[in-house]
Amino acid sequence: MRDVFNFSAGPSMLPEEVLKIAALEMLDYKGSQQSVMEMSHRSKLFDGIIKEAEALLRELMEIPDNYKVLFLQGGASAQFSAIPLNFMNGSGKADYIITGQWAKKAYEEAQKYGDVKAVASSKDKTFSYIPKTKKEDFRKDADYAYICLNNTIYGTVYKEIPDTGGIPLIADISSNFLSEPLDVSKFAMVYGGAQKNIAPAGLVIAIIREDMLGGARDITPTMMDYKIMSDNDSLYNTPPCYTIYICKLVLDWIKSIGGLSAMKERNEKKAKLLYDFLDNSKLFKGTVAKEDRSLMNVPFITGSDDLDAKFVKEVTEAGLVNLKGHRSVGGMRASIYNAMPYEGVLKLVEFMKNFEKENL
Ligand SMILES: *Cc1c(COP(=O)(O)O)cnc(C)c1O
Repeated sequence: MRDVFNFSAGPSMLPEEVLKIAALEMLDYKGSQQSVMEMSHRSKLFDGIIKEAEALLRELMEIPDNYKVLFLQGGASAQFSAIPLNFMNGSGKADYIITGQWAKKAYEEAQKYGDVKAVASSKDKTFSYIPKTKKEDFRKDADYAYICLNNTIYGTVYKEIPDTGGIPLIADISSNFLSEPLDVSKFAMVYGGAQKNIAPAGLVIAIIREDMLGGARDITPTMMDYKIMSDNDSLYNTPPCYTIYICKLVLDWIKSIGGLSAMKERNEKKAKLLYDFLDNSKLFKGTVAKEDRSLMNVPFITGSDDLDAKFVKEVTEAGLVNLKGHRSVGGMRASIYNAMPYEGVLKLVEFMKNFEKENL
């Protein structure tokens, strides 16, 4: 066990068990005398890795057969363009809910390509809650609706999927991918960058309902055309092979601890420890509406910028690192993704208790 607990919002902690297997296999993957880093992406061995990763993901998330799983690059941010370029192909309209910076960036990018409407926003209260919507809020002829399911910077999450009245719903799940069971069939597409909960940076996983594919605009870059990526089993060009390999190991690890229901239980236990403390603290307080709290990202403040800075300095010295809040909001943020052990959160809460005693 390492002594430092890393609360980074991303790239973030990977399970130590996974890193140990990767270290063991670094020079010689399964008797090949090659590292996965050195292997052809067209080799039998790598084909086994990517197929196994997809099969495990399908099993763990119970992905219906009429959905494609794509391994892509360019980060979640590249999908902000790819989504309109693939799906804004009927009325040219798309409806977005603005729950934070990532949703806003996706919304702004989509504006380059068509008639994009913000149907709701929580900007009025610094994105500290999830705005309520009704199906009447969405335009009946919109090509798709778009949400960011877990808002990494502000620490909110959708507990209920909005009713769009049948308009295909697309969700960015970058920061809660595989953190708990998710009913994929409610979405036309979910996608996320791997660097929060799944693997090192460099990989995006997209899960897309088949009937959505095939309508990309003529000007869509080949690398952003989901149909082309799908027809080529994510091997149109060289994929991020090593990252996909780590993804496979992480999926093995999730399966070994009992799958997504077990993951959810672990994550709830960790989050409860921290939220219960925040709710009873006289110094620290959470910044998010209780009913919309994320299990993954927990922002909190003391109410004083000076004390926040003192806390971040001292907690870092204690081996609890990357707790500084996002540069746009300040304060603190604990990202407690799948790989964060319970002991890490326990140590953080113990530290906060002592800090409160000394500084109140
Ligand atoms: C981190 C993050 C992004 C940006 O991901 P990149 O891979 O850096 O483009 C987008 N959306 C959400 C919800 C995120 O947490």
